[in-house]
Amino acid sequence: MSRMPETLYSRIGRFLDDHRLAPDPAHYAFVHAILTEPKSALARAVNDLIDGGLRLHQDDIRRLGGPTEASPAPLPPIASSETPVRDQRDHAVPEAESQSDALAEQTQGHVEAFGAIIRSMQADTSAFSRNLAQSAAEIGRGESIGLATLAKLTGEMLERIHVTERRLEQANAEADVLREKLIEARATARRDTLTGLANRLAFNEAVGQYLQSDGPCHLALCDIDRFKRINDDFGHAVGDRVLSAIGQILAEESKGHLVCRHGGEEFAILLSGLDRDKATAIIERARATVRDRRLKVRETGESIGQITFSAGIASLTQDDTHETIFARADALLYRAKNDGRDRTCTE
Ligand code: GH3
Ligand code: MG
Ligand code: MG
Repeated sequence: MSRMPETLYSRIGRFLDDHRLAPDPAHYAFVHAILTEPKSALARAVNDLIDGGLRLHQDDIRRLGGPTEASPAPLPPIASSETPVRDQRDHAVPEAESQSDALAEQTQGHVEAFGAIIRSMQADTSAFSRNLAQSAAEIGRGESIGLATLAKLTGEMLERIHVTERRLEQANAEADVLREKLIEARATARRDTLTGLANRLAFNEAVGQYLQSDGPCHLALCDIDRFKRINDDFGHAVGDRVLSAIGQILAEESKGHLVCRHGGEEFAILLSGLDRDKATAIIERARATVRDRRLKVRETGESIGQITFSAGIASLTQDDTHETIFARADALLYRAKNDGRDRTCTE
């Protein structure tokens, strides 16, 4: 029995759900543009960002010209791959820190608010049960006041239950918003703000998982050659844009594998499910693409010149720990540098 192809409408809906984007017209239009023109620069940029199962982040959408949460805006065109690299620097680190502080405070506030609701419910119910016992005793003694008091008490308790229900509903709604924000914060904490790639934390978690599983897996450490020259000749801001562009190339060339900015001008790639030759071929292709790419300074059009990187690829063995696999890949990278750079060393 053949399956019906998924409609565009439901693909857009699924994308919005997967990336936890609000289903508002601006996000809808953004995702519509990505899905209806999969070969566009925008779609390719988005695919690179979400490659490896990462969730599209609000900052990415904003950076790509999509709507912001605060103010839905029409989509400006994104730079094509031929255009000079864009300045993607932001100052998100202090922002992320203050955001996580705010989230921690909000979470604390919510826990306290739930605690207060529970305590007031406990106080209400214990007062009610005391009064109930008293009324029951009065009824037992045949005192006529008992029933009237019981009705009044029950009415009051019902009113309190309604109030508590409303407070709980509100607290639950706020907790839902907070949960979303915490999920978002978790994703942000695992992403490098300059390149949008996974960061060291996300990478180390993934390596930890592969260490416990079977199947071939290789760790490639890629370090840009003489990167200091680029900073010295063109300035740190241009250096940052180059890092971003190279990160993008690595993500494109290693689609389906986890690419991370491991720090500074070094990238780490986890290549799984391939034999060593195929893993090496991916890194070699990426090296060729980087070497052939001619980046320019956006403001002046000046060519940045040829950029190369060196790589060390170590293959995971059963006895490996996090430290041993990184140490071997690092030693191979060191050898590639010593042998003249612009090359890959494998085991
Ligand atoms: P090698 O071929 O031996 O790797 O030479 P290199 O110049 O790439 O290596 P070195 O370790 O001497 O210098 C790395 C440079 O990378 C120095 C540092 O300022 C720069 N760098 C590290 N992180 C960043 C960053 O986030 N942005 C920019 N623009 N530069 C960075
Ligand atoms: Mg370097
Ligand atoms: Mg380095």
